Amino acid sequence: MEKKLEELKARLMEIGDLNAAAALLFWDQSTYMPPGGAEARGRQLGLLKQLAHERSTDPALGALLDALQPYAESLPADSDEACLVRVARREYEQAVRIPADFMARLTQHQTQIYTVWAAARPENDFAAVAPYLEKTVDLSRQMADFFPGYAHIADPLIDFSDYGMTVAAIRPLFADLRERLRPMVEAIAGNPPVDVSFLHRHFPEDGQWAFGLDVIERLGYDFEHGRQDKTHHPFTIKFSLDDVRITTRVHEDDLTEALFGTIHESGHAMYEQGIDRHFEATPLGSGTSSGVHESQSRLWENLVGRSRRFWQFFYPRLQETFPKQLEGVTLDAFYQAINEVKPSLIRTSADEVTYNLHIIIRFDLELALLEGDLAVRDLPEAWRARYQSDLGVTPPDDKDGVMQDIHWYAGMVGGEFQGYTLGNILSAQFFDAAVSAHPEIPEQIAAGSFGQLHGWLRENIYRHGSKFTAAELVERVTGGPMRLEPYIRYLHDKFGELYEL
Ligand code: ZN
Repeated sequence: MEKKLEELKARLMEIGDLNAAAALLFWDQSTYMPPGGAEARGRQLGLLKQLAHERSTDPALGALLDALQPYAESLPADSDEACLVRVARREYEQAVRIPADFMARLTQHQTQIYTVWAAARPENDFAAVAPYLEKTVDLSRQMADFFPGYAHIADPLIDFSDYGMTVAAIRPLFADLRERLRPMVEAIAGNPPVDVSFLHRHFPEDGQWAFGLDVIERLGYDFEHGRQDKTHHPFTIKFSLDDVRITTRVHEDDLTEALFGTIHESGHAMYEQGIDRHFEATPLGSGTSSGVHESQSRLWENLVGRSRRFWQFFYPRLQETFPKQLEGVTLDAFYQAINEVKPSLIRTSADEVTYNLHIIIRFDLELALLEGDLAVRDLPEAWRARYQSDLGVTPPDDKDGVMQDIHWYAGMVGGEFQGYTLGNILSAQFFDAAVSAHPEIPEQIAAGSFGQLHGWLRENIYRHGSKFTAAELVERVTGGPMRLEPYIRYLHDKFGELYEL
């Protein structure tokens, strides 16, 4: 069995390395590649992905997994080997159930709809993209049908990024969250507006860049095993557990976008950097789910990075970096400005309180599309109605309404948006668990010391990679299932004080 296990690891490493090579080409494409390189790059990426897919669905891999099954079952369920065989089998079975010709049709359609959307969005022309979106809904339903036995048609799609989560579990959780957020948003809306004008003075790029790097180095992002570069749409990307990079974008008339983007991505990256080295280039060597990943980026970005304690330490440094721009701006005024709550049309720039309402709207609408209760042609109207009822704002057009996010126009309908809000909910539950274990963490944050928190996250979450599902991990770390209360309490405490609710 030892030999078979070694053979399995060797095969999995080939797949991991092909995917990592493709990731490197993608990183270059998104950072430094001159525009002229696009055509050849597309071809090269396509070849690497095809090779990785062929190896991922190789019947010999399936036979090897079958042969190892009894051995894996004889081991403790939480041993590295048993987890490796289990997760490798899950990924193999997912890959082989999707016919190659369907995958080719889906990919071709996704390229097509993306092109149509990219042209139609600035023209505010939903009608142009609607027939393509109908096809995406249809293909998403077909995709789900390759995994029969589901309770809800979105469940197999959710499994791709948040394995084990189901509509039955998420829908009531989100409905509960929505009911608690709406009165908060309404109460805050009655307050006088917060002055945020000083965040939009001129902040030269060099200063923003250096400050951001200083912050994330103190949080624990490891520059021996990572680096930051500029891009249009920030992301984190990994080529190995020893090379996990982040990207950001800087606007000189906006102090917060690069800074909080950098902290957010460093949270994703520290998770990957902290995974046990034994899992390198295996299916265990990545964060376990989209929700848990997002919990790590949000924990650092919001619970730490937008806290008063954090700025007690960093604000004097920020003022040293930008003495003219922040002259006369008090810590309190700054803290209020970076936590302004203001219902808006755009998800990506939403504050902590309203953000989840944007997600829940998308989640509910995509379920309705998949269930057949909502037709694509009625989607813009349904979108406007929900924005009015949930956020009190009505999109004047589809460009900044139903067409604003890339997800439905480049991927599938269903399976992606839930991860953002699951991440927010989990971020508070994990942070609570860390502070229970080490009550001195908040004071350490105020002193600019993050080693204790980082060490706790590494020990309890990071190092396990994908050994445990999200639900198993939450159970291990917090002693119970995912719960909304810590997150609601966090929001009430923080924004209740800020807005005197
Ligand atoms: Zn993220």
